[in-house]
Amino acid sequence: MLLKAVLYARVSSDRQEKEGFSIPAQKKLLKEYAKNNNINIVAEFVEPETAKKAGRTKFNEMLKYLRKHPQVRIILVEKTDRIYRNLKDYVTLDEFKDLEVHLVKEHEIISDKSSSHEKFVYGLKVLMAKNYIDNLSEEIRKGLQEKCAQGYYPSSLPIGYENKANATGKKEIFLSSDAPFIKQIFEKYLLGDYTYKSLAQEMSDAGFFPKNRQCINKTVEHILHNEFYTGIFYFKGVKYYDAKHPAIITPELFLKVQEKMKSKYKIAPKKHKFAYSGFIKCAHCGKSLIAELQHGKHNSGDYVYYRCHNCKGITIREDRFEDAFYNDVLKKIEFPEEFHQEIIRVAKELVECETVFAETSMNELHHKIQVLKRRLSQLYTDRCDGMVDDETYLNKRNEWQMELDKNLVKYEKINNASDGFVESVDNLSNLCKNAPQHYLRQSQEQKRKMMNLIMSNPVFDGSNLIMPVVPAFEYAMKLKNVETRGVEPLSKMD
Ligand SMILES: [Zn+2]
Repeated sequence: MLLKAVLYARVSSDRQEKEGFSIPAQKKLLKEYAKNNNINIVAEFVEPETAKKAGRTKFNEMLKYLRKHPQVRIILVEKTDRIYRNLKDYVTLDEFKDLEVHLVKEHEIISDKSSSHEKFVYGLKVLMAKNYIDNLSEEIRKGLQEKCAQGYYPSSLPIGYENKANATGKKEIFLSSDAPFIKQIFEKYLLGDYTYKSLAQEMSDAGFFPKNRQCINKTVEHILHNEFYTGIFYFKGVKYYDAKHPAIITPELFLKVQEKMKSKYKIAPKKHKFAYSGFIKCAHCGKSLIAELQHGKHNSGDYVYYRCHNCKGITIREDRFEDAFYNDVLKKIEFPEEFHQEIIRVAKELVECETVFAETSMNELHHKIQVLKRRLSQLYTDRCDGMVDDETYLNKRNEWQMELDKNLVKYEKINNASDGFVESVDNLSNLCKNAPQHYLRQSQEQKRKMMNLIMSNPVFDGSNLIMPVVPAFEYAMKLKNVETRGVEPLSKMD
């Protein structure tokens, strides 16, 4: 039976085309390979050169095709850098579990049947790529924190507020037409005898339709609990006092209302932070184990337990879980020296690949930023010369300024994320060097992060813990076993 495959080709620079890596040459090579290996090419995806800047439309089409045709699980491609243009591509292609990528010129096939060594290298690439993407979102989070530090709530605004441009055209938080009702809700609740429901009814009768919706008891409950109205805000558990939005009520009024609610309704106690909440799954029903704090007897301190609320007897103490991770996973991934060199080698290769990509995007962004700056300055001149009216001026100015801000933020992010990547590779390498010792020195939160990097979806059945490690480490463990036992050459391992 003929195997079915798709063909993917592209050139990555003009220089390469001159050196004989042109599309026809790539296609010829891949077709010959297919013929010699009894492979039937069912679809071809060739990136047109003009698409170099606009992104890879054919690559995305190929992904779509592979999702639609699960019986086609082979990609034929000339070399690694044809298909993995940047780190994100490693993660994207990794989602197709039984995919084979034939790197024809490199005489390599990446698949489930690859040798442990190849899988280790590929797994490392995917792992590092994921890490890089996490770093990017970390940068975005930092951006949000920066916004917070300036006093702006970085998420959607509660009822009573809206974003509008101020006199100078900059976006600011203003009170909306719902604001007077907010104040009434607090005052009425404190002075009268209301339930959430009866107050909601009265506010509806008074014409309160927050964001054009019906006011229900949940609306009232949310409003009464929201400290934002006193002129502060919370973001990711941090309280920001220097908020830029105007207060609708005083902190005193807010506190009094909280007291009154407390006496009327039982309020759930504040949650303790548990490191592995939702991390461990129950082997019987698949639900996440839920953390509980239990007070030890005879002043022996408190213990954290993780328990399945569905099944009886599925309970594990936190320190037992950590011990198991330490002994059964970490102790096994202390790699020999040559592994570090492998990690560094892979990392260098990936950094190079990402740098080329980042440089291209940064060049594009730089160009966009220059164009917007020019436009804005021209617009200003036109306005001074009386060539545009005030309304057009403000509208265009806002639009372009916003666009400019967005591009500037993106530019910064790409810049910073690459730095973070090299750092995280360093961490990863150190982690493997002395994982167990490293682990013991970590905070609870770092321990959880480290676990996340190494294993996915631990499962507990009441007596046994199953702790699957991510592919890169799995193959590395296998390799290590072979080496210490000194049997079988690597290629025969699988
Ligand atoms: Zn269960």
